[in-house]
Amino acid sequence: MQSVRLRATNKIALCDIPKPTPGPDDLLIRVEACGICGTDRHLFKGEFPCTPPVTLGHEYSGIIEATGANVTGFAIGERITADPNISCGTCPQCRLGRVNLCQNLVALGIHRDGGFAEYALVPQKQAFLLPTTLHPHHGAFTEPLACCIHALDIAAIKPGQSVIVLGGGVIGLLCVQLARLAGAAQIILVTRQASRRALAETIGATASCDPNATDPLTLIPNGADVIFECAGVAETVAQAPKLAKSGGTVVIVGVMPKGEKVEIEPLDLLFRELKILGSFVNPFTHRRAADLIASGTIKVEPLISRRITLAEAPDAVASPPRPGEVKVLIVP
Ligand code: NAP
Repeated sequence: MQSVRLRATNKIALCDIPKPTPGPDDLLIRVEACGICGTDRHLFKGEFPCTPPVTLGHEYSGIIEATGANVTGFAIGERITADPNISCGTCPQCRLGRVNLCQNLVALGIHRDGGFAEYALVPQKQAFLLPTTLHPHHGAFTEPLACCIHALDIAAIKPGQSVIVLGGGVIGLLCVQLARLAGAAQIILVTRQASRRALAETIGATASCDPNATDPLTLIPNGADVIFECAGVAETVAQAPKLAKSGGTVVIVGVMPKGEKVEIEPLDLLFRELKILGSFVNPFTHRRAADLIASGTIKVEPLISRRITLAEAPDAVASPPRPGEVKVLIVP
């Protein structure tokens, strides 16, 4: 079968490898679509640890073609989405229920072969059913949505509160939609590209601005109850507490390069009792994400910028995103 494999840092290629055979606890799926995530570009450049050679791709769904001997509750022909993050279940963090902080966490598409392929193996404990009636490309959004649901859980928005989202990539645009669902009255997306601001206002943002042209505090003078930092750059991380209302919460979702630092004013945190919290991946949120995708409650079709083949994928991963692009899907 065809697969797109990271062979080493800066070396990614379309490869012919044997179609995998399911082990006793595995499902073999025919991949219908797999999203390219910023993390795939970090992996390509060696900025994020992984174990090459490995088939990349951790945002995917597909149709079950075969099941291992121990598999129950899944049948050939059903559609599933894969939760790529596999926790060990036995380390101290897992035993406290903090599976995303597992000391032995491994991920499909990072440490084990993932979804940039015609076929993929998914351990049954990582598989979640999606309806067969769903658009075959929409299941690929379950994983990024599950990460955003965790961020929303951490933010604990109350109906009527105000929200600022910094960064209008797919993560920011999913957080905008979730904030709307959580009952936020004001949701302001701050991002530089006009097309993303326009899109955000069609899917839930009440306002948007270009940070290079407008100070977000002109739109919400006392700041917002909750700030989602979804850009992953030093500038927005430093800006986030300044945009929070007194007593407000900043949730850091964006990933900054290891070792990079930002300036925070502790006196401001103290006097205004601000909370700055991290949100890492998707603990126990994949089922809810699958249900929100399946019900059409979260709009994902407008977030798809391009659909490409496996042959086009190495170039897409090795290149920066095109202007205006939100999500590129590989359709094997
Ligand atoms: P993305 O497509 O790169 O979106 C981030 C966007 O932020 C950029 O495209 C850019 O859009 C905007 N931005 C950059 N500088 C900005 C600035 N100064 N002010 C305002 N906006 C700015 O990435 P994504 O896929 O949406 O992911 C967002 C972040 O979340 C990444 O760091 C990713 O690694 C991380 N992530 C975290 C988790 C987790 O579990 N915590 C899970 C998935 C992804 P404009 O050009 O429009 O400004």
